[in-house]
Amino acid sequence: MKSTLVSAFIFALIPFNFHPFTKPVPVTKPLTGNVFIITIDGFRWQEIFSGADSILINMESATPDTSTLKAMYWDDSPEERRKKLMPFFWNVISRKGCIYGNRKFDSRVDVMNPFQKSYPGYHEMFTGNIDRAIHSNDPIPDPDENILEFLNKQKSFEGKVAAFTSWDVFPYILNEKRSSLVINSGYDNQQGDKLSSEQKMINRVQDEIVREKKSTRYDELTFLSAKEYIVASQPKVLLLGLGETDEFAHEGRYDLYLQQANSVDQMIAALWHMVQTMPGYKDNTTFIITTDHGRGSRTGKWDSHGEWIRGSSNTWMALIGPGIKARGEIHGGEQMYQAQVAQTIAMLLGNYFPGEDAAPAISLR
Ligand SMILES: [Zn+2]
Repeated sequence: MKSTLVSAFIFALIPFNFHPFTKPVPVTKPLTGNVFIITIDGFRWQEIFSGADSILINMESATPDTSTLKAMYWDDSPEERRKKLMPFFWNVISRKGCIYGNRKFDSRVDVMNPFQKSYPGYHEMFTGNIDRAIHSNDPIPDPDENILEFLNKQKSFEGKVAAFTSWDVFPYILNEKRSSLVINSGYDNQQGDKLSSEQKMINRVQDEIVREKKSTRYDELTFLSAKEYIVASQPKVLLLGLGETDEFAHEGRYDLYLQQANSVDQMIAALWHMVQTMPGYKDNTTFIITTDHGRGSRTGKWDSHGEWIRGSSNTWMALIGPGIKARGEIHGGEQMYQAQVAQTIAMLLGNYFPGEDAAPAISLR
């Protein structure tokens, strides 16, 4: 509510063409055949790199069943803690890919937009720019072209770009009407004449559940829908947008936030295993995993985010697959921005995204 006014004020302060980058990125040959982008809404860098927080896991208001949660996710060493919370990240991605954003080691990833909310974050991620008109989560169609839409217009990607998301604002963020992308969002059922029995079952389950949980879809259902779609339609570019981490955080439930992060890690592991065993995808698919914004870094502010909450711009990014060197947890290096995701997707696929003011790809050296 207050945020719309505040946002209006903030964006009056952004200079036109705000752009911390200088060098354009040359187009190269494709480094990979497929790119899957997985977003974990509002999941903090603090938990990615240090696992459960020592204060929040011991605070009964945030973690009602402290002893069970500690048995599952606690260890005195941050390296062990993060492995308990996100085993795929720290057993697989840390060995075969790279993970940016541990500020303790001077690796910094931030959103460039000052609003530090979901829609502005996803706008930045997929268009590569900041638009003053996108400053809230209001469902208005995004006026700017996004990378998914750009790729879908090309012969080699036409009909091979899809988005499966828990949050039902994505049809606006990706401008479904203009972009004609395949977007399955919120409780959208899977469409088509030749649905598999699994796809039909997911539709039936969703029809039942929608009465109980209206706002956003359970991530598990979004994940299962995406998986079945991958088997049925073999997309080359897929967005899997997961949202429950942010919801549980807003409810102040640190226990559920951790549980969900652990479930999401398992989903990513399952998806990786699946593509690594499918012809066409095996050794030919790169994952980019990131988030739309950070959250408060202070204990009392962890549950919220936005322009006035310190830490909300701090994010992280993990990559694995062809084109990505096995550099593990990154120490030092250039400041990275969420706006670089769009051009990074393009670069991995041997493309150049000419989007307005689009930030350059991240350096993969
Ligand atoms: Zn939020």
